[in-house]
Amino acid sequence: MLQPAIEFRNVSKSYRLATDYAVDHVSLDIYEGEFITILGSSGSGKTTLLKMINRLYEPSEGQINLFGENIANIDPVQLRRKIGYVIQQVGLFPHMTIAQNIETVPKLLKWTRSQMEKKTDELLQLVGLNPQEYKSRYPSQLSGGQQQRVGLARALAIDPKIMLLDEPFGAVDAITRIHLQEELIRIHGGLKKTFLLVTHDINEAFKLGNKVIIMDKGSVCQFDTPQNIVRHPANEFVMSLLASSRKQEQFWEGIY
Ligand code: ADP
Ligand code: MG
Repeated sequence: MLQPAIEFRNVSKSYRLATDYAVDHVSLDIYEGEFITILGSSGSGKTTLLKMINRLYEPSEGQINLFGENIANIDPVQLRRKIGYVIQQVGLFPHMTIAQNIETVPKLLKWTRSQMEKKTDELLQLVGLNPQEYKSRYPSQLSGGQQQRVGLARALAIDPKIMLLDEPFGAVDAITRIHLQEELIRIHGGLKKTFLLVTHDINEAFKLGNKVIIMDKGSVCQFDTPQNIVRHPANEFVMSLLASSRKQEQFWEGIY
């Protein structure tokens, strides 16, 4: 039996002073090379679920294993070297060039200058930015979508096995978003890494994920392939999500 890349074993998280669970007894297995999307409304626990994987948050109960090893026993800094993390607010250092931004962690790891230059060029190509044109620029000289591409390149710099992406396209316009989604599918296909992407957009979740985790009020309502979810929605909440998406389609059909 194949060992999961990430295992959630009855994982819960409750924040201090909160009465409800932010994440409520979640058990699931994610395999190497999968592209998992996590779909749910605001406040459903998506970010909390993701941040427990790189130990930005600790579970209140339960256990998370990474390739069979309990992450509670892995030093958080070492753990984060195996896990790329991309967020909506990109977080590029404004006073550093694009190349310097991508090379932050490689520099800490004492890579040689030529190793770093080679990797930076490779990564900029991968995310669709011409290295010669962009590597000496500063973040403010890039569009939001281009900055997000650099954020992705930076997260990929140390070749992590796992990539966590928390609403990475939340702040870009609809057209750029479609481009970035397609690029992400291409990048995932070429890298054989495990991707987990959080979104509140049902179209994005079903388009990108080979499997979708649907969350509501901290619980996982359903974890399955898009096709199985559409064919056999697990509960009322999933049905209402699918219905809202169909309503949107009907709106467009009405216009044409
Ligand atoms: P999502 O990413 O789906 O919007 P979150 O995981 O951010 O959801 O939040 C889930 C729940 O946990 C919400 O009720 C939120 O208010 C609460 N929460 C999130 N982060 C914290 C925190 N650092 N301290 C206290 N409560 C939090
Ligand atoms: Mg969130």
